[in-house]
Amino acid sequence: MSKAHRAEGASLRDESFTYESQTTAQLIRQAQDILVICHVMPDGDAIGSLLGLGWALHKLGKEHTLACASPVPDSFAYLPGSEAIVAHPAGNYDLVISLDCSDLKRLGTAYDQNSLRRVPIINIDHHITNVGFGSVNWVDPNSAATAQIVLTLIEYVGVPLDPTIAICLLNGIVTDTRGFRTPNTTPTVMEVVTRLMTTGASLPEITEQVFNRRPLALIRLWGRALSAAQLDGRIIWTEISQAMKRECGLDSDSDDGLVSFLTSACEADVGIVFTEKDDGTIDVSMRSMPGIDISSVAMRLGGGGHPQAAGCNLNSSLTEARERILAEMRHSLLEQVARHQH
Ligand code: AMP
Ligand code: MN
Ligand code: MN
Repeated sequence: MSKAHRAEGASLRDESFTYESQTTAQLIRQAQDILVICHVMPDGDAIGSLLGLGWALHKLGKEHTLACASPVPDSFAYLPGSEAIVAHPAGNYDLVISLDCSDLKRLGTAYDQNSLRRVPIINIDHHITNVGFGSVNWVDPNSAATAQIVLTLIEYVGVPLDPTIAICLLNGIVTDTRGFRTPNTTPTVMEVVTRLMTTGASLPEITEQVFNRRPLALIRLWGRALSAAQLDGRIIWTEISQAMKRECGLDSDSDDGLVSFLTSACEADVGIVFTEKDDGTIDVSMRSMPGIDISSVAMRLGGGGHPQAAGCNLNSSLTEARERILAEMRHSLLEQVARHQH
């Protein structure tokens, strides 16, 4: 696509015009009815990217459905349009856009393999572990959030930013950088943030909604989990059983604040929280200090993520999951130390 074809208002730098952005924009322009899906157990980037792109498609006048197999967590219900997200999309779609998913499994039941088998998928993501499952794979591990890539896309197709789109996208960046505290918080990220704030997105509002409010039951659960934390070499871990959740009066799954807090222990380089989910599977949430990669362990066990934040889901008991992950992690840390010494 030449510059002449670029829609009015696109403010992208020339070097950003890639095959992926061009093909994505072209497929969106051609599509009649688009299904946009983010990952199961969505975080702020998944929901923010989904809604931000949804509002842009609305402005483009494109028929679309926004889907997520799991419910929207309470802390993101404040985002405009969150009530329109469905778990079981039913339509005659001619394009699927996957957001913030490193593999097809992460789309969960919102993606029906049978009916969508022949429909092209655009895979927009920033996970280093992305397996490239799309017909187009716009995967940029240098982006702090998928929302950042969605912003590039929106500007490329020429949709003018507005406060509604901006708050959704900023929500994604704020949450995936844990409030600008992760190593991928680069000057470029801050430029993007400035642009979104200038458009009208309120950073204090997002911070208040996503970091400063949580149910007392969750705080009590954290208290129990934190006081039971164990050190295994430089790995700190704890677990949350169904019984603990019941006893604390919690009916939904926790956010990712616990594992990040746990990993702040000076004595540890890696933090892991094992959570027994309602369906009996074990959710493994991992964080590490800069320089230590945990995404490879997550990937080996069928999950994925980033070098410093990764996860997987195991079909086993809490004890089996813990033994398996701790063994893999000890091995991986030894390997990384050995590689470092060479
Ligand atoms: P979490 O610990 O759930 O906040 O997830 C940390 C990172 O790992 C996020 O970027 C997730 O998208 C990714 N992740 C977590 N669980 C899985 C999984 N089962 N499969 C693939 N990626 C995952
Ligand atoms: Mn995510
Ligand atoms: Mn993300």
